[in-house]
Amino acid sequence: MSTASPAGTPAPGQLTFVAPRRAKPARHLADLTMAERRAAVAELGEKPFRADQLSRHYFDKLNGDVAAMTDLPAAAREKFGAALFPTLLTPVRELTTDGGTTRKTLWRLFDGALVESVLMRYSDRTTMCVSSQAGCGMNCPFCATGQAGLTRNMSTAEIVEQVVAGARALAAGEVPGGPGRVSNVVFMGMGEPLANYKAVIGAVRRLVEPAPSGLGISARGVTVSTVGLVPAIGKLAAEGLPVTLALSLHAPDDELRDTLVPINTRWKVAEVLAAAWDYAAKTKRRVSIEYALIKDVNDQEWRADLLGKLVRNKLVHVNLIPLNPTPGSKWTASRPEDERAFVRRLEHHGVPVTVRDTRGREIDGACGQLAAAE
Ligand code: SAH
Repeated sequence: MSTASPAGTPAPGQLTFVAPRRAKPARHLADLTMAERRAAVAELGEKPFRADQLSRHYFDKLNGDVAAMTDLPAAAREKFGAALFPTLLTPVRELTTDGGTTRKTLWRLFDGALVESVLMRYSDRTTMCVSSQAGCGMNCPFCATGQAGLTRNMSTAEIVEQVVAGARALAAGEVPGGPGRVSNVVFMGMGEPLANYKAVIGAVRRLVEPAPSGLGISARGVTVSTVGLVPAIGKLAAEGLPVTLALSLHAPDDELRDTLVPINTRWKVAEVLAAAWDYAAKTKRRVSIEYALIKDVNDQEWRADLLGKLVRNKLVHVNLIPLNPTPGSKWTASRPEDERAFVRRLEHHGVPVTVRDTRGREIDGACGQLAAAE
C-alpha cells in the first residue's frame, strides 16, 4: 500500500490515501465559515458587515462576479474579487441527454486538473452529482475514475462551486422544465469523499447552512457515498449532520469484495456494515447500500441471500445499479433475469430494494463512468 500516488494508473489493488502534494487552489468565500469571512474582510481593511453582503450575493443570488455587486464601493469590490472570488472552475465541455434534463460538465481546475459534475432533473427534484477529488485513489476495477488514479484533493470551494454552477443554470431557466433549484446533492462524482474529509465536511456545511451563510439545501437531500473508510464513517456520524450515507458494498463476502473494492483488504464487510449500522443509529437516517450488478461476478442468488441476511431488519435501503460500461473492462451488466432473481431474494428477506434508473450512460455521465478526459 503506497502513501503517495504515482501519477498514472495504479497497480491492481493498490490504494492511495494521501493525495500527491501540489499547489493548493486559491482561497474562496465558499471555503470560509461566516466568522472566517468577517475576519477575512476585516483583514482587507473593510467593515465586517461586508461579509454578509458578499455572502448574500454568492449564496443567495448565486453571483460570484464582484463587478455586479453594485451595493459595494467600487474600490472594495476589486479587493474582494481578488481576495475572495478567484476563478476555480472553468467549463471545458458540456454534454446533455434526456432532452437536456441530464447534463454533464467537464471542468478544468486552476492547475489543469479535470473533474466532472452531473446535473439530473427529475419531475420532483434536481440532483447535482459532484466530484470531491480529481481522480480517485480507491482503485475499484469496474470504475473508470478509479482506473486513472488520484491527482489531488479538491478544496471546499471547488466542491461548492459545482453546485452553485448547477444552481445558476437552473435559476436562469437553462434546464428544460422552467426555473428551478438544486434539491439534492450526491457525492457520487469523481473521488472518495471520505478520503478528503475536511474539505468535504466544509462543503456539506456550506450546502446545508441557510443563506446567507450557505445554500440552504436540506441535509436530508445530501448523500455522501463511500467505499467504506470505517474511521471516517465514525467521524461523520459524530458531526451532527443528518446527511444520508451511501456505502458502496458490491459484494457481501470478503473474498469477492477484496477484489471489487480494494479497501476491503483494510476494513472487512462485517466492520464496514457495523460502522453503517452505527451511522444509522446515531443519525436516524436510512443507510443506502450500493451494489453494482456485474454479470456472473457478484449477481448469484446465493450472494443475494447472503446480502439479505446481512442487512435485513436494519435501517437500510439496497440500491442495485446495473453495471455501466467503462473502457477496457471485461465486465458487463447482469442478465435481466438474474437481476430480477437478485431483487426477489432481497425482497424475500424483507429488505427494501430498488434498481437505480441510471441516467447519463449515453454521455459517459453515469455511475463509474466519470473519467474527465478531453
Ligand atoms: N468513491 C465513492 C463515491 C463514488 S460514488 C464510492 O465509491 O462510493 C459512485 C458510485 O458508482 C459508487 O457506488 C460506485 O461503486 C459506483 N460505480 C462505480 N463504477 C460503476 C460502474 N461501472 N457501474 C455502476 N456503478 C458504478
